[in-house]
Amino acid sequence: MADLSKSLVAEVSRKNPHEPEFLQAVEEVFESLEPVLERHPEYLAARIPQRIAEPERVVMFRVPWVDDQGEIHVNRGYRIEMNSAIGPYKGGLRFHPSVNLGILKFLAFEQVFKNSLTTLPMGGGKGGSDFDPKGKSDQEVMRFCQAFMAELYRHIGPNTDVPAGDIGVGGREIGFLFGQYKKLANEFTGVLTGKGRNWGGSLIRPEATGYGSVYFAAEMLAAKGDSLEGKRCLVSGSGNVAQFTVEKLIELGAEVVTLSDSSGCVHDPEGVTTEKLEFVKELKNGRRGRIREYAEEYASATYTEVDPSADHDPLWAVEADCAFPSATQNELNGRDARNLVENGVKLVCEGANMPTTPDGVETFLEKGILFGPGKAANAGGVAVSGLEMSQNSLRYAWTREEVDAKLKSIMREIHSSCLEAAKEYGAGEHDYVAGANVAGFRKVADAMMDQGVV
Ligand code: NDP
Repeated sequence: MADLSKSLVAEVSRKNPHEPEFLQAVEEVFESLEPVLERHPEYLAARIPQRIAEPERVVMFRVPWVDDQGEIHVNRGYRIEMNSAIGPYKGGLRFHPSVNLGILKFLAFEQVFKNSLTTLPMGGGKGGSDFDPKGKSDQEVMRFCQAFMAELYRHIGPNTDVPAGDIGVGGREIGFLFGQYKKLANEFTGVLTGKGRNWGGSLIRPEATGYGSVYFAAEMLAAKGDSLEGKRCLVSGSGNVAQFTVEKLIELGAEVVTLSDSSGCVHDPEGVTTEKLEFVKELKNGRRGRIREYAEEYASATYTEVDPSADHDPLWAVEADCAFPSATQNELNGRDARNLVENGVKLVCEGANMPTTPDGVETFLEKGILFGPGKAANAGGVAVSGLEMSQNSLRYAWTREEVDAKLKSIMREIHSSCLEAAKEYGAGEHDYVAGANVAGFRKVADAMMDQGVV
């Protein structure tokens, strides 16, 4: 059967030769699906693997905008509408110079399985632009968002495609995007999630991915009779996901000793306290500064600049019990994984999407590390986006406690469906990678079978 997944991947690879991240994501999923396809040849006959790896639609468009000096810039915008078998397309928008078609297709592909795992009726999509918000004024970001939405608005809608935030797209950008959609469509509707509290947003949405990742980690530990209390944790990134991962870890009695951004990382052996976290939030969300300033503010911390020629990241070489990669894809390689294992890490929980390279994942699974893959562990964000859609439809707002309780129960459910699927299809006892891929796939595949060849 190993030949089957190889030949399916080869087929996808022939069609998408220049998209390494997309192929990496497809290969991991197809490998996990071998036992499922063996037991259900009807999926193969219906060409479900080939169809699930082909976006239903890709929109690519020009985004021209004018900077504060009157100069014209041209960026590229995208929306990948990957799969709508179980609901409207749903997934974030990323604004980052590294954005290209292959990266967005990997994210959209992952999103299909993640959304299925949440138990909510959401298909998968992703979009964004190679626009870099760093160093731009609020006015420039607004003009870019308006130009981006001037094209995107005709492809989305509350029952068609509901984008949200991702890297480089937070509350500020969602506000500008929503304002432009409302003006062009002439309707006030829940077409984006991550909206502001006063205009249709859900409580806990900003916190949801980070909190959800920590709830998932707590479930993995509880399944082994352990907890996060007193655990020393490494967190990478310092954006939305990292900040709320740290917040929940502190609340549950763990100690966080690292943070990073794309320029470097800080190590604070005395731990990131609530007060220090407030400094990080102001630094990153308010002043939009660099994480280096943390080490300038707190004498207990040291800062290490990124070395692009290094074969490992010093952040993953710090002694700890748990690691929460929460920045970006492929930020933790095989060497980093071995460093973590040698330094005593027993749990790795992916807040980011596909932050661990395939050899890193293999190391964790081989060494029996509790490993929560992103499509399960970071599904809390899209889950609360789904709850935001429900509240918009009901024209009603749940309390903070109500949303948090729903988030917790969704993460618990995702955890148990991963374990059940892994067991049913003969994967390792705690193989959350296989579990998440199989459980996410089955629901979408069955819906595709029911709906015929479309
Ligand atoms: P933010 O833009 O808020 O923060 C991203 C963080 O990662 C920043 O600290 C950024 O540093 C760092 N970073 C970005 N690119 C790189 C890079 N190439 N190398 C090193 N560091 C980098 O994004 P989010 O926190 O929202 O997203 C983080 C991850 O979580 C992404 O993988 C995203 O897809 C995933 N995710 C996010 C969800 C959400 O709800 N927001 C939901 C599910 C997954 P700098 O400040 O220098 O740019």
